[in-house]
Amino acid sequence: MPEKNRVILTCTECLSRNYSTYKNKKSNTKRLELMKYCKRCNKSTLHRETK
Ligand SMILES: [Zn+2]
Repeated sequence: MPEKNRVILTCTECLSRNYSTYKNKKSNTKRLELMKYCKRCNKSTLHRETK
């Protein structure tokens, strides 16, 4: 079974921890950066992986 890490996606504008997801440790070594909707900002913002 592939090893997966749980990561939190944090809004880069208000630093809310809005999403949690899983990523494959071996195939994805880059930091995740995704455009996601943030409730606090009330718009789509860049979300970045946090531990
Ligand atoms: Zn935000």
